[in-house]
Amino acid sequence: MKVSYNFVKDKIKYFNIMVFKEPLPEIPIILTDVKTYLGQLRYTRKRLPDGTFRYSDFLFRFNTRYDLKTEEWEDIILHEMIHYCIAYNQINDSSPHGKIFRKMMKAINQRFNRNITIRYRQNLT
Ligand SMILES: [Zn+2]
Repeated sequence: MKVSYNFVKDKIKYFNIMVFKEPLPEIPIILTDVKTYLGQLRYTRKRLPDGTFRYSDFLFRFNTRYDLKTEEWEDIILHEMIHYCIAYNQINDSSPHGKIFRKMMKAINQRFNRNITIRYRQNLT
């Protein structure tokens, strides 16, 4: 299947309740048709005087170009929601897919029997 706006919106709403303990505020969802990614969290990152970052202006992008299984899209949505959860809570991870990201990914995979990964098919992230 290819994703639609309502599919993504409904899944985010569902996973926000079922998977993420602290409900994440709704953010804009934009559908794109590109070759470079399947899903993406966009945000503004501002460096504070103490060297940490402040994240704001969140936005999800999902790609309508690729035909994947429903479960694969769900895992991609969850992947992007982990990014959002980390950034929304102003957590400075060790790298974009750092220790905190991997810990959350592993916990969700085990608890909800998911297959969220860092790299997806066709080497898209
Ligand atoms: Zn990622």
